[in-house]
Amino acid sequence: MSEGYDMLMNVNAKKLEWKFQVYVVRIWENPNRYNQKEVNSIEMVLQDIKGERIQASINKGLFKKWRGFFEEFKMYTMSNFIVVDKMEKIKTTRNWWTSNFSHRTVVVRVENPSFSLEPFCLKPIPKLLVAEKLDDSQLLDIIGEVVGKEDPRDIITSKRKETKRMVVVIADLDNNNLDCVLFGDMVDQIVPHLEDGRVEPLIVVLQFFKPSRWNDKVSVQSHFDVSKIHVNPDMKEVHDFRKSLLGSVTSNSVRISQVSGHGVQSGAAKLKRGGVVVKSIEDALNSTEEGPIWIGGTIVSINAGNNDWFYKSCRKCPKKVETPIGNRYECSKCGHTHGSASLRYKVEVMAYDGTGSITMLMWDRETTQLIGRQAEQIKDEDCLEGEGYPPTLDNMIDKKLLFKINVKTANINKHDQVYTIMKICDDEDIVEKNCPMEFISNSSDVLTENGISNSMDVSATLANLKSDNNSQCSVDVVEDSVTSLKCKIPTRRALNGVKHSVSLNIDNEEDFQLSTNKLGQKGGKKRILAAHCLRTRPMKVLKFHLYFNLSDIRSTLPGN
Ligand SMILES: [Zn+2]
Repeated sequence: MSEGYDMLMNVNAKKLEWKFQVYVVRIWENPNRYNQKEVNSIEMVLQDIKGERIQASINKGLFKKWRGFFEEFKMYTMSNFIVVDKMEKIKTTRNWWTSNFSHRTVVVRVENPSFSLEPFCLKPIPKLLVAEKLDDSQLLDIIGEVVGKEDPRDIITSKRKETKRMVVVIADLDNNNLDCVLFGDMVDQIVPHLEDGRVEPLIVVLQFFKPSRWNDKVSVQSHFDVSKIHVNPDMKEVHDFRKSLLGSVTSNSVRISQVSGHGVQSGAAKLKRGGVVVKSIEDALNSTEEGPIWIGGTIVSINAGNNDWFYKSCRKCPKKVETPIGNRYECSKCGHTHGSASLRYKVEVMAYDGTGSITMLMWDRETTQLIGRQAEQIKDEDCLEGEGYPPTLDNMIDKKLLFKINVKTANINKHDQVYTIMKICDDEDIVEKNCPMEFISNSSDVLTENGISNSMDVSATLANLKSDNNSQCSVDVVEDSVTSLKCKIPTRRALNGVKHSVSLNIDNEEDFQLSTNKLGQKGGKKRILAAHCLRTRPMKVLKFHLYFNLSDIRSTLPGN
């Protein structure tokens, strides 16, 4: 309960016995203006039960007592402050006052918060873009997806300090773009996330950024030490944004494009979300181009025995170590020696997507990510047959994922059938978003000249199979080229390589022999990933995207 605590909106300079129960939403150190190496004060922004905020300040004399004490987004009770108007030109809150710590200030951490944190005051991007008069004295928070970037540049500040500057372009859910200028450490913080051809949206929250307008163009920039960038943080605001984003983007997209920049001005205009290339496994196997590509598929096999799912590595780095010298292993890369080697995953797996199967090598990071345990932790597991790999590895089976694989020359000329996994994406929404649709849009490529492919495959996203009001559901990617077929042999047009959406009646789910041999049920949703068999007795109407072989269709439909 917050009884007995003062509300931040009531703070004034007329007393000292203030008592707050507040979250710390931001804490930073202000360097001395004349000597950057010296800290002048520790600053905080506090939030109370009503969502009101105030800046708090700890002067040099009290550093020893408080430095390292506070944690962002944690709740504290605090009492006794000297309230002043610091008359700062750039403000972090709308509150006039600053509460200064004194020697009498008492703070207790609250382990079980009684109200919720409101970490950000998010400003909608359009409000900034159309603002008649831009208030650049108020720092603000922005959420968005990073959709563009420039290369970082080294710059020298007016105080002759070397630093880096980089522009990233972020977009809101309506694709309103805003240039964000990052400096110094923030550049280093975001660069590792800005790889090309990423499939997961990169969502950032910019906290306490300064708006600016130059030549009629609005941007925000980091403002000394108060600004902070949160990259894909595990927070409600970001989960909500991400959910809306994945639900609203019409198709998958290359998430970040390079801006060949001459400064901010050229930035946003050049950006466009294009189509990402998540290829079918068939396309990947026939690829003649070296380099990384994304594919989607379900893990259907682990090709390993009892001693070939791991390798012995250095304990300090991932380098493989050979037989020990004497009783010690020596790493040829980092020189570390140790009495015993470490175990890391190196597992051969096969994935299937309806167009084919591919063999891939999965390394330690990805395998750990999927099964949730380290190689060392499962090495002593009993295997039922005594011969096989540890059963925990089976956790990977049936997982539907996106894989970033590296196509090497040896893969192209078929000397090596095993592709190396560079990265995986196991986010269900993103996998769903990219996989079934991509199979569809690839289907016209798969079809041969006369429109008939050699195989029959069905990819479908199917929602709410069990509920009653949903007879027609799902993905309307190719609405304009869609023909709806109901218990009928497809028309000629259907066989000409046109993408189709077909409604089928089936009597029960078991008639779908799924590649995974099971139907995933989650949150009331059923998803059928790939079906190999169709029946047409009426019961539920499902909507599918297909490409098919004429004779297969005929043999499965009634009247044949
Ligand atoms: Zn090493």
